[in-house]
Amino acid sequence: MNSSDNPFRQLPSLDALLLQMGDEIARWGRDSVTQTLRDLLSGWRGDIAQGAALTLTNEKIAAELHQRLQASRSPSLRPLLNLTGTVLHTNLGRAALPDEALAAVTCVARGASNLEFDLQAGRRGERDAHVESLICQLTGAEAATVVNNNAAAVLLVLNTLAMGREVPVSRGELVEIGGSFRIPEVMARSGCTLVEIGATNRTHLKDYRGAIGDNTALLLKVHTSNYRIAGFTAAVEEPELAALAIEHGLPFMIDLGSGNLVDFSALGLPDEPTVSHALASGASVVTFSGDKLLGGPQAGIIAGSRELIERIRSNPLKRALRLDKMTLAALAEVLTLYLQPETLCERLPTLRDLTREPAAIHAQATRLLPQVQAHLGADFAVEVAECRSQIGSGSLPLDTLPSAALHITAAVDTSDIGDLAVALRAGSLPVIGRMHKNALWLDLRCLEAQHEAPLLEQFAALSR
Ligand SMILES: *Cc1c(COP(=O)(O)O)cnc(C)c1O
Repeated sequence: MNSSDNPFRQLPSLDALLLQMGDEIARWGRDSVTQTLRDLLSGWRGDIAQGAALTLTNEKIAAELHQRLQASRSPSLRPLLNLTGTVLHTNLGRAALPDEALAAVTCVARGASNLEFDLQAGRRGERDAHVESLICQLTGAEAATVVNNNAAAVLLVLNTLAMGREVPVSRGELVEIGGSFRIPEVMARSGCTLVEIGATNRTHLKDYRGAIGDNTALLLKVHTSNYRIAGFTAAVEEPELAALAIEHGLPFMIDLGSGNLVDFSALGLPDEPTVSHALASGASVVTFSGDKLLGGPQAGIIAGSRELIERIRSNPLKRALRLDKMTLAALAEVLTLYLQPETLCERLPTLRDLTREPAAIHAQATRLLPQVQAHLGADFAVEVAECRSQIGSGSLPLDTLPSAALHITAAVDTSDIGDLAVALRAGSLPVIGRMHKNALWLDLRCLEAQHEAPLLEQFAALSR
């Protein structure tokens, strides 16, 4: 009986294959090559059992092996092009870091550093020292400390200052921030008791006053960055709350969420309270994110009075929530850019994207359109369309920015816009747009010049 009688005989044995795969074994490791070959052989056995006619050569087997191993080794976390129009997209990694920050990360990650070492004194130093004076300089705070994100900052402050005690909060501020951060739940986990006061739309100073008792730990105001209550509303302004807190000898905490360090209205952007304004209004401690409007790495920043920051820093939970050296290096570089506000909008990607001129985005879309259309052929129609970008990350949800998009629709019955969106996500550099009214919108606000060629390459790859 020859192999044409028994089609399974054309499959080489695993041992025979392994003997020929010396290069692959050196590159990927013996275990991975063995397992992948086993999987391939079993797949081919199945194909043959179904009656498939295979023509396997050693080259084909090696190519298939290579492709499988390459795919299995490619990192799960990878870059993509965010053309959703949401600049600070939580699911897409929020702020893009400036080159200076990336260089600093590589630099400290490569070897030893003075992370917790005082070079002058020659002894143990303080991790926060690398960013504390920058934060103080930029916000007017007396002292500052940093943790893993703003959720951790809120948890740590409340746990330090309010564990086992009460914290009155306006019912209009009991927000949920995308995903699973809810103010009431974080308060419970921090060990303090939430005392709800006022109504969803209206809370008055007398509500706070009425809630203050012997067991009150502090007054808390949460900046409701991701939604707004309109109509018949009332909230107590920061200076009044600060005065009430002083009257009762209590700390006054503001969770700013997306605290920013520069005046947004001066940049032509929707107004958002700054950290210095919150502190100047009488907050004794303010918490905010590193990777929202600040445009830095994921971090939570706590700025405030020296006495409170010292207590927060010595909470054992601080150790569990502390920043690592790479994040600290990136944060320090981003904060340093803020010392030179006149170049900030050029050098900090988040602000660069947020302040792009709509006319420039429109011109970019017009310029790219013919090439995108050429790659897509007659199946899809591409136009330039006006659209609105969002800032994102729960920041300023109602204020959108005028922008321009490549607007793609199916041009013939046999093409499907959903399939195109899937194909663009499956590419080597996934392209993420927004589906709306049977069209794929690629908002070009975040498409920087160096991303144009990679974007076109993704369209070119579709037709290959
Ligand atoms: C975003 C936000 C948080 C959580 O900040 P992360 O940095 O995402 O952990 C907490 N409070 C408010 C008010 C926020 O807007």
